[in-house]
Amino acid sequence: MQPMTQTAPSASALPPEIARRRTFAIISHPDAGKTTLTEKFLLFGGAIQMAGQVRAKGEARRTRSDFMQMEKDRGISVSASAMSFEYGTYRFNLVDTPGHSDFSEDTYRTLTAVDAAVMVIDGAKGVESQTQKLFEVCRLRDLPILTFCNKMDRESRDTFEIIDEIQENLAIDVTPASWPIGVGRDFLGCYDILHDRLELMDRADRNRVAESISINGLDDPKLADHIPAPMLAKLREEVEMARELMPTFDHKAVLEGTMTPIWFGSAINSFGVKELMDGIAQFGPEPQTQSASPRNIAADEKKVMGFVFKVQANMDPKHRDRVAFVRLASGHFERGMKLTHVRTKKPMAITNPVLFLASDRELAEEAWAGDIMGIPNHGQLRIGDTLTEGEAISVTGIPSFAPELLQNVRAGDPMKAKHLEKALMQFAEEGAAKVFKPSIGSGFIVGVVGALQFEVLASRIELEYGLPVRFEPSQFTSARWVTGPKDKVEAFVKANPQHISTDHDGDVVFLTRLQWDIDRVLRDHPELTLSATKEMV
Ligand code: GDP
Repeated sequence: MQPMTQTAPSASALPPEIARRRTFAIISHPDAGKTTLTEKFLLFGGAIQMAGQVRAKGEARRTRSDFMQMEKDRGISVSASAMSFEYGTYRFNLVDTPGHSDFSEDTYRTLTAVDAAVMVIDGAKGVESQTQKLFEVCRLRDLPILTFCNKMDRESRDTFEIIDEIQENLAIDVTPASWPIGVGRDFLGCYDILHDRLELMDRADRNRVAESISINGLDDPKLADHIPAPMLAKLREEVEMARELMPTFDHKAVLEGTMTPIWFGSAINSFGVKELMDGIAQFGPEPQTQSASPRNIAADEKKVMGFVFKVQANMDPKHRDRVAFVRLASGHFERGMKLTHVRTKKPMAITNPVLFLASDRELAEEAWAGDIMGIPNHGQLRIGDTLTEGEAISVTGIPSFAPELLQNVRAGDPMKAKHLEKALMQFAEEGAAKVFKPSIGSGFIVGVVGALQFEVLASRIELEYGLPVRFEPSQFTSARWVTGPKDKVEAFVKANPQHISTDHDGDVVFLTRLQWDIDRVLRDHPELTLSATKEMV
């Protein structure tokens, strides 16, 4: 029998501190097991100790953000947006993708800060809508993807069927890293194809790592001691077939994002999780080169460079501080460093950065390329901003999407209009929504990419600002940023006041309901550009 592994990971050219970093996100459809898997990662990463009992979902969620106690004490709730922990000789940086099921820009931008994604699917449900959407986003960036097929302790689909579905729906080669033995109540564990091992699930203790038995190929007589004869025959037959029909593990193809290895397991039983983590360590990419202008940033550059991919406002209404999440693209950062804020050309002393170390929750004394740092600030740092040691270089590829849905927003209490403005501006800076101030009349128009975002915004404005608001249909459906020679833009603005608004940066935006209007502007004003997106700088 031929081995499934074709290529071994090559030695890294990066400095060891950078080469050992793995920065990734977990993508999944709600309920597939992302939270449970995250917990087990933290458990095996030594970051949390868990009782032998599985806790209720609510409780588990609380634990997740509880290790962010320091931020809470300081009045900044950053929840579990990023978590760092050691795994063997590796440093894992796990970046959380927003939990709600509606697609948002936030998710896209989070994925600009990672080098790989772990895709969790439910073995009974296969590829679900949200998985598909998130996968497409990963594909845009050619992100390597490792797949975990969860809940194998329940009745699941046939293994071949699951793999076929991923290949077909997502158009990616799938190679089995492990193969399940039995399913549902009869699920015994997996044959580890990459390492020729037998992993058996411990049903008695859900937090224990599975027993690992080294074997010598599927013909090893030792297998009969652990697997009942009919199941063993089935395993041999299936793996034989898989080897014939499925692509062989190819490390290069995984790194290029054209192949995904799949592990089977049960997160709640801690089964298959370690193998997945080993996979991330062994095959997951090191910190990658970051695209930027006028030149790209290589991870091994000596000088520190980083970019903001997310801004989270303080959830405590008494404080108005924000935390900017910065992905270090290069260099070795040390606390107190003065960096240049490229957009404003101003120096910034980074004195109290937070490193989201799951185990000791310390202030960040140092960080390396690949790490995620939180920088508390008063609003200077915005999504897409680059920090460097002086060089005028800006990270690219963090887009701002055209809002597809526009609504008017009104404060329940008209006396609170000023507060509403403040709240809206904050969300606009966070990148949670687009906010347009029409040139005629009062009030604001809010643009989002998914309908659920209106609800999320309304509840956040109420929660964080004590301000009930109403969203109402707007007469507009499209927004386009207007650019061109200054005098031409000004003349255009004057001639079309009923269509003109400004965004939170003061940039001119043309609002309309008809594509015809957009075509007319383009025809009558060839010197103007109407764009559906604007880069976040
Ligand atoms: P999320 O919405 O993706 O974060 O999913 P959760 O981690 O909250 O899991 C959703 C539900 O599936 C919870 O009730 C979990 O206890 C359950 N669950 C997670 N992993 C497994 C598993 O391996 N087997 C079984 N049977 N249930 C699981």
